[in-house]
Amino acid sequence: MYGRVLGLANLGLMVLDSDQRIVFWNQWLASRSGMAASRVQGLLFLEAFPELSGQRMEQAVHTALANNLPTVLPQNQNRSPFPLFAAGTWGGERVEQAVTLTPFNEGKERFCLVEVADVSNTVGRERLLRGQAEALRAQSYVDGLTGIANRRHFDVALDRELRRAHRQGAPLSLLLMDIDSFKAYNDHFGHQQGDACLTLVAEAFASRLQRPADLAARYGGEEFAAVLPDTSAEQAAQHAEVIRAYVESLKMAHAPKAVHSHVTLSIGVASFDKERLNDAKALLEAADRALYTAKREGRNCVIVARD
Ligand code: GH3
Ligand code: MG
Ligand code: MG
Repeated sequence: MYGRVLGLANLGLMVLDSDQRIVFWNQWLASRSGMAASRVQGLLFLEAFPELSGQRMEQAVHTALANNLPTVLPQNQNRSPFPLFAAGTWGGERVEQAVTLTPFNEGKERFCLVEVADVSNTVGRERLLRGQAEALRAQSYVDGLTGIANRRHFDVALDRELRRAHRQGAPLSLLLMDIDSFKAYNDHFGHQQGDACLTLVAEAFASRLQRPADLAARYGGEEFAAVLPDTSAEQAAQHAEVIRAYVESLKMAHAPKAVHSHVTLSIGVASFDKERLNDAKALLEAADRALYTAKREGRNCVIVARD
């Protein structure tokens, strides 16, 4: 009866003797390797699987038999050590395997039980989940690098607040900011430190906005934006000045070729106006023009759009 049970097991079972000869080989292995038990029984492990010579599996078998030490070979380190295939897919992709080696003694002789589990489904599911997680992240509202709102979130918030401004006639302002001489920063410190600097500036800028309705976002590479509902142009200019001064006060060392010796921001401010600046495009263009003026006027300053 045991023989029948071992034949029905949904797991590959192989037993090696102390000389590493195959003394047991179950039906699961036979059907997935194309080698019947009668063909492999008595063969040395490496005669049956020459490709495993010099591999971690060979070492693990040796350790199990010589030192009585069990080993687990998880799939992520050793995907498909044995040439095993799902039924009907010979020559296709091997099944992904998790292998366990367990030494045991029978009388005076030591043996090693080799269990092979087909983990292809689990692995496939993991891959699928990872893919889905990445897709969700791409659709999400958070910028992957800095952790503040992303461009998509900004667009949605600006749109929503514009509609509200139209409905209620409430003020609404927009800040657009760009790090000064950031190309020089990257060139001098490297892109990775550039990313770290971007993250610090994003956190600094976001921390200065205190109203729950304010939105701090990464607008593009090293450009940030803020949507400030119920905020007039004068108030927005004050907020912008607080942000500018705060980033400057952090005294983050800048590249020698930068315009200023510390990392600074230039900021353009634009405010909703029922007649002229009444949609996202017009507001963004006005803020961008103001930002451009701030750059021209020496950077590290705030300019309010007056058109
Ligand atoms: P300006 O003072 O006129 O703004 O000069 P600038 O060098 O900052 O010019 P610009 O704003 O055009 O430079 C953008 C640079 O920002 C180019 C690019 O190397 C860098 N950058 C954009 N996105 C990223 C990013 O995600 N990570 C890093 N490290 N650098 C970025
Ligand atoms: Mg830029
Ligand atoms: Mg810049």
